[in-house]
Amino acid sequence: MTIVVQKFGGTSVESYEKMQQVCNIIKNYKEKGLDLVVVVSAMGRKGAPYATDTLINLCKNVNENSSKRELDLIMSCGEIISGTILTNMLKGNGIDAVFLTGSQAGIYTDGKFSDSRILDIKPERIYKELDEGKVVIVAGFQGTTESGEVTTLGRGGSDTSAVAIGKALECETVEIYTDVDGIMTADPRVEPEAKVLDYINYEEVFQMADKGAKVIHPRAVEIAKSGSIALNIKNTLNPSHPGTRISGMSPKFEVNKEAKSLHTMTAVAHKNGIAQIKVKSKEDIFTEIMNEIESNEISLDMINFFVEEKAFVIDHEKLKILKDILNNHDLEYTVKENCAKVTLIGTKMTGIPGVMAKIVRALSKSKINLLQTSDSNMTISCLVEEKDMKSAVHAIHDEFKLN
Ligand code: ASP
Ligand code: MG
Repeated sequence: MTIVVQKFGGTSVESYEKMQQVCNIIKNYKEKGLDLVVVVSAMGRKGAPYATDTLINLCKNVNENSSKRELDLIMSCGEIISGTILTNMLKGNGIDAVFLTGSQAGIYTDGKFSDSRILDIKPERIYKELDEGKVVIVAGFQGTTESGEVTTLGRGGSDTSAVAIGKALECETVEIYTDVDGIMTADPRVEPEAKVLDYINYEEVFQMADKGAKVIHPRAVEIAKSGSIALNIKNTLNPSHPGTRISGMSPKFEVNKEAKSLHTMTAVAHKNGIAQIKVKSKEDIFTEIMNEIESNEISLDMINFFVEEKAFVIDHEKLKILKDILNNHDLEYTVKENCAKVTLIGTKMTGIPGVMAKIVRALSKSKINLLQTSDSNMTISCLVEEKDMKSAVHAIHDEFKLN
């Protein structure tokens, strides 16, 4: 039996009309004789009546410090609502289906509320339902501990559920349905010339997600890579479009043997809401400060440590707590708020000369102030002021001819 795992995101199930489209896709696959496991997100995004954020607010409205355990319970309801409706709609369309919560589907987690990892999937129940010819609808984003506590997998975690189930069922491919034709070379709301990529490798898509692009949950990519599962990103409203395929080494690169070509760059990601910190350092106490930063779960990025000065960036949300730490130690520092990180991504940029030079030229031609940079073997990140973010994405996208 060939099992296909499909995941439908929040926008794909936000209304009865959209769900009907999901039913049509499922019906099509069923008619081809495939066995289907369908993972769903909660209905709609922020503001929608049964969206995850709405459910969180139901608790937070009565207590800003709602307990994580209860928040996970209420959050888990979003996917139960969408999944049960979709199951009933399928049955109404003459397709036999059954809905399973994360726990009923055998998804076991480590018990960390709001940010659990999946430890194990016991797929017996899923197999049993498939054997009976049913489409199995599973609530994404949730699982259970061995002792029965419901936990969620971190925001956007339905992707992770789908890929983990695909791995447990030994599928070759998992299909992720969303509201665009595939993964694009940049966020199309920021860069009008962004285009859909037909192919991207695990590392690049992981970097895109990590550097702020809302493409797919990074943990889902990790699991896909560990199980060598290809992911097809597709549009629920345009299912005949081939979408973007995510797997190992990109054929685009293998075909393009000209390793020196700058066309091997793949995408530009961006992330707003960043603050740049520069601390006049007193070596002796900096270790202590780093310990406090760690214990407060503040993650530092674009780290540049010199003897005289330590420069790094953090998310705005963590700014207050960081300032408290620095003030407590009487340190001299400056903060530049409202910055954005713009990152060029391409697996094979290592060894290609002139990538940084091109970026610097492109930004300077557009009169953008480059505040700081950092790089890895497949990324170059530029810190700019938020007001320059759009032009920076455009300048880099254009310079490397990603369109
Ligand atoms: N509904 C959850 C969220 O909004 C999980 C997901 O959609 O992937 O984060
Ligand atoms: Mg998502």
